[in-house]
This record gives sequence, structure tokens and C-alpha cells, in this order.
Amino acid sequence: MTLIENALSEEHREFRDRAATFAEEVVEPEAERIENEDEFPREVIEAAGERGLLGILLPEEYGGEGSDFLSYCLAVEEIARASGAVAETIQGHTFAALPIANFGTEAQKEEWLEPMARGESVGAMLLTEPDAGSSPTELSTVAQADDDGGYLISGEKSFGTNAGVADVHLVVARKRPAPEESHGVSVFLAPSADEADGFEFDRTEFMGMRGHVTGDSTFEDVRVDEGALLGEVGHGFRIAMGTIDMARTGLGAIGTGIARAAFEEAVDYAGDREQGGQAVGEYQAVQVLVADMDAQLDSARHLVYDSATAIADGEGNTRKSSKAKYVASEAAEFVTRNAIQIYGGKGYRTDLPLERYYRDAKILSIIGGTTEIQKTTVAGEALGL
Ligand SMILES: Cc1cc2nc3c(=O)[nH]c(=O)nc-3n(C[C@H](O)[C@H](O)[C@H](O)COP(=O)(O)OP(=O)(O)OC[C@H]3O[C@@H](n4cnc5c(N)ncnc54)[C@H](O)[C@@H]3O)c2cc1C
Repeated sequence: MTLIENALSEEHREFRDRAATFAEEVVEPEAERIENEDEFPREVIEAAGERGLLGILLPEEYGGEGSDFLSYCLAVEEIARASGAVAETIQGHTFAALPIANFGTEAQKEEWLEPMARGESVGAMLLTEPDAGSSPTELSTVAQADDDGGYLISGEKSFGTNAGVADVHLVVARKRPAPEESHGVSVFLAPSADEADGFEFDRTEFMGMRGHVTGDSTFEDVRVDEGALLGEVGHGFRIAMGTIDMARTGLGAIGTGIARAAFEEAVDYAGDREQGGQAVGEYQAVQVLVADMDAQLDSARHLVYDSATAIADGEGNTRKSSKAKYVASEAAEFVTRNAIQIYGGKGYRTDLPLERYYRDAKILSIIGGTTEIQKTTVAGEALGL
């Protein structure tokens, strides 16, 4: 038995199988439609909820599955194999639900977690701003306390997976007036753009992950009441970044899933396609590509599972998750690019999924912290800086 299979419990295998079945029965048949229409795949997300794939990490008492982070990674990898966009949508949703589970009041948990586990409510985490990307501490969105105990949110948020289509947006903003003892950065639960006066959403088009929705969110004196504050004033970064090791490892799992899809198709094709009287896979030049793809994919998988297992055991750490994230996202780019190469001209056709894998993979080395940021983090930890 391999190291990885050895590490999996019955429960892990069950989530992997459940997600693989969902990917095969629901996501795969819809993947090209989602790609072509580029609309938020709400019905697919609801189907994921019905199969318990949105609440893997949420407590059972709030409609979740109460499983661990390795189960989540195994599931999201299977889903990404069929559609990167659906996997990224689930990832954005999951990392909006987790802070509510970890820091929410009883009322907030009751209001949001069960509908989020079922896929009836969608979540988005809005941290990034036009001038605060790799350096999120430079954010300038403010939440001005009003006389009735509520807040008026004003500012601009960039990207934010599921922004605009979400029912609950976790907006990271500076509480004003600022508390004496802290910078005041806090998280506020804002409703959908339709429900909130002053909340405008402008969707942006991207080269990949079509169907996954994100864009620019503008808040102009958007009023939320006292109960919208998530956790404590001044704990905003702790809340938003508290799941960052998980989020980065989860993005690595998505990269692993996309790379797997591309690798499997490329290997099949290399065996079938004949040129010069032999299968192209018999040419050493193609074999070198296949070997490098296989090795990178396996490295990605091992680092992702290693970080996920550590997180599941309460021993997660930034060095492991940053390595998993950048190795897997770079592997996804490498494997998908060379899968197109092995397909030759057909790899460039938009009616085949190879070029979709490539476009989807590209974003993984940017979101959740760029590869450069991950390398800086790993080196900083290794060098004790
Ligand atoms: C599809 C998509 C989905 C997203 N989802 C979300 C989401 O759900 N929530 C959310 O809050 N945000 C989200 N983002 C935003 C994403 O996390 C940021 O784009 C990312 O963190 C990079 O920030 P930036 O784009 O401002 O790039 P910048 O920070 O401007 O970086 C530009 C370049 O400079 C380099 N650089 C910057 N600082 C350093 C440094 N200190 N050391 C070395 N190199 C550096 C970067 O590596 C990069 O190459 C999403 C973005 C996209 C495109």
C-alpha cells in the first residue's frame, strides 16, 4: 500500500468516493455547459450540498458532516478533476462558512451554517482591495459605527470568489472610530448586493475558471446592524487569515485535481495517437514530458496530503501549506501546458477540455497568495527570519 492510501481512514475514502461519484454524475456532464455559458452554477452547488459536500468541515449540529480537512482535500480534488470552476466556487464558499463556524455567535451560526451546508446560501470572503492584495494589511474599507449600534460600510473590494452571487459576504473592514488598543480590523457579514442599499457588484471576466463568479464590490454606506459583526472588533485578520493554511492547501488540492485530469487525458492520447508508424508516447521526447508531469503531479499530491493530514491532526503549519500550495499550483500549470503539447494541434481546440485545464490552472499560482509570497514564506520559516 502507498504512503497516501495508508494514511486514509474509511471516512476519508468515503468522502473521496462520494465526491468522485458527484463529479462523474453531476459535474462532468455539466462542465462544458458551465464553461460555455459562464454563469454561476447554482444548481450544481445545490447538488453538492444535497450530497453533503459543502459541509464536510462544518459541525454536524449545524447540518455539516463534521469530518476533517483531509476529507475536504480529497473531495475538492475529485471535483476539480471534472471542473476547476466548480471546485473553486466550493472552496470560496467553504472559506466563508468556516469563519462563521469558528467565530460566529449562536444566532449567526443558526442563521447561516445549515443553509450554507445545503448550498441554499452561498458565501464569499472579501479581503482583497484595489490597493491591498499581497499586503492585505493595507486595506482601507471602513465600518463606521452609527448611533443605533450598527455600522456603515464603505470601500472597494476586488475579486472575492462568489462575490455578487453570494447571500452572505464576509467583508473585512476597519471599524471606526478605531478602538484604542487595536487597528480595528474586523469582519462584518453583509447580505447580497440585491438586499443591501449601496452595495454594487461589477462582475469581471477572466481567462479561466469560467462559471466561477468574481469581480469588484463597491460599498457606499452599506448599513449592517450590530449582529453583523463576526467575532470581536480588532480580530479581523485573525478571523480572515485563521484558515489560511487550510485555504492554501485546499487550492493545492484543486491544482492536483486539474493536473490529474490533464495527465490522464495526455497519457491516453500518447498511447493512441500514431505518427511516423508508432504511438507518439513511444518517442523519447514525449516520454520525458510524461515523466516530468507524473513526478510533478505526485510531488503535488504528497505535499497537499501531508499538509492536509497535519491540519486534520491539529498540527498544520504555514511552511507545509505554502509548499503544498505553490508546488501544486506550479505542477498544475506545468502538467496542463504539457498535456496540450502532447495533444498537438488538438490540444488547442476549444471543444476539447485541454485548453480549459490550462486556463483554469493558471489562477492557482495567484489566488490565496502568489507563488512568490509562498516561497518567501517557506524561506522565511526555513531560515528562521
Ligand atoms: C479568480 C480570483 C479569485 C479570487 N478570490 C479571492 C477571494 O475569495 N477573496 C479575496 O479576498 N481575494 C481573492 N482574490 C484575490 C487574490 O487573492 C489576489 O489577487 C492575490 O492575493 C494577489 O494580489 P494582487 O492581485 O493584488 O497582486 P499584487 O499583490 O499586486 O502582486 C503583483 C505581483 O507582485 C508580487 N509581489 C507582491 N508583493 C510581494 C512580496 N511581498 N514579495 C514578493 N513578491 C510580491 C506578486 O507575487 C505578484 O507577482 C481572487 C483573485 C482572483 C483573480
